Amino acid sequence: MIIGFCSSSDPKCPIISSVVAKYVKDGWTVWIEKQIIDNSAEKYEGSIEIKSREEILKNADIIYANNFPSLTELSSCKTDSIVISSFKPFENPAIVDETKKLSCHVASMDMIPRTTLAQSMDILSSMSSIAGYKAVLKASDLLPKYFPMLMTAAGTIKPSTVLILGAGVAGLQAIATAKRLGARVEVFDVRKAVKEEVQSLGASFVEVEGSADSSSAGGYAVQQTEEYLQKQKAKIAEHVKKADVVISTAQLRGKKAPILVTKEMVDSMNFGSVIIDLASSSGGNCEVSKDNETINYNGITIMGNSALENTMIKDASFLLSNNIYNYVKTFVKDKAINIDLGNEIIKGSIINAK
Ligand code: NAD
Repeated sequence: MIIGFCSSSDPKCPIISSVVAKYVKDGWTVWIEKQIIDNSAEKYEGSIEIKSREEILKNADIIYANNFPSLTELSSCKTDSIVISSFKPFENPAIVDETKKLSCHVASMDMIPRTTLAQSMDILSSMSSIAGYKAVLKASDLLPKYFPMLMTAAGTIKPSTVLILGAGVAGLQAIATAKRLGARVEVFDVRKAVKEEVQSLGASFVEVEGSADSSSAGGYAVQQTEEYLQKQKAKIAEHVKKADVVISTAQLRGKKAPILVTKEMVDSMNFGSVIIDLASSSGGNCEVSKDNETINYNGITIMGNSALENTMIKDASFLLSNNIYNYVKTFVKDKAINIDLGNEIIKGSIINAK
């Protein structure tokens, strides 16, 4: 069995040295495109073979890249090989039909179900967790204030208040990180199910009554009624006004992110406050944020960044490589490739099974 890793525009390394050893132990021959090795921050040890992109696409049994610039080059993949990447069919539904023209199978890791069994291969969680952690560190760096309360000879410094909007994977990691730095943490999420989790991390939960039931949406948030949204807006406005830092992580899968922090709310904030908008790539949770930019809006620093994991490349590559390895294992039975469509994880993530 040959697994080949192709380079991409994404800076994370999909195959680190320690994971090569795991593949080899399982009977794989590991091919890597040279560009991955050149861009990697570490030395490769063990049995890898450097191959051209063309060779990998044509001859490998499983081919992985963080992204492919277009599907055109996949027409050279051999029949029945498996191409794995994150094809984002929720954002781009047409891709599913486009893959039907190919003779290879196509699997999309962003479609892996969010179940307990699939946790070890969940790249969305791995990356969101880093982004949540990094969002707090970036905010503490940009804020002209301490996070913790400090009693000094010169006077007492009040703790900063961090408001976190959205308590999914990124939000929960942001809560834990902000608490460790000594801030007061407040959290809002439309999913009431997270209230206990938020409180167990030592943060307070901002409650808005009457949210739509999301219990059958696989853990994702659902669209809310107009009445609820108005109540939510008023409640969030109260808390944004008093916050030193707002970290927003709220997303609706495949749709534009909800606007939670309006321009008017930003205008009400104290000079020097900071907003980190992790949803900026899907339109942003803050009306004023700009994707991939840090702006100064009337004294408020607003960072729009949905890929903060790329600022912590070593651990992001470690987690990504292990997620991919654990996913690839689901396609192997008795040292041979086996696509078992009865397996929930494969069924949920394969977008083109031949
Ligand atoms: P996400 O990135 O889709 O959204 C982040 C958070 O924003 C969510 O908690 C969501 O409820 C919230 N949100 C959406 N709209 C909002 C609004 N208008 N106002 C306030 N908050 C809003 O979420 P995610 O981190 O990818 O996680 C999605 C779900 O999957 C969560 O329930 C998470 O616990 C679950 N999950 C399960 C597993 C597993 O069991 N393997 C792994 C990862 C995530």
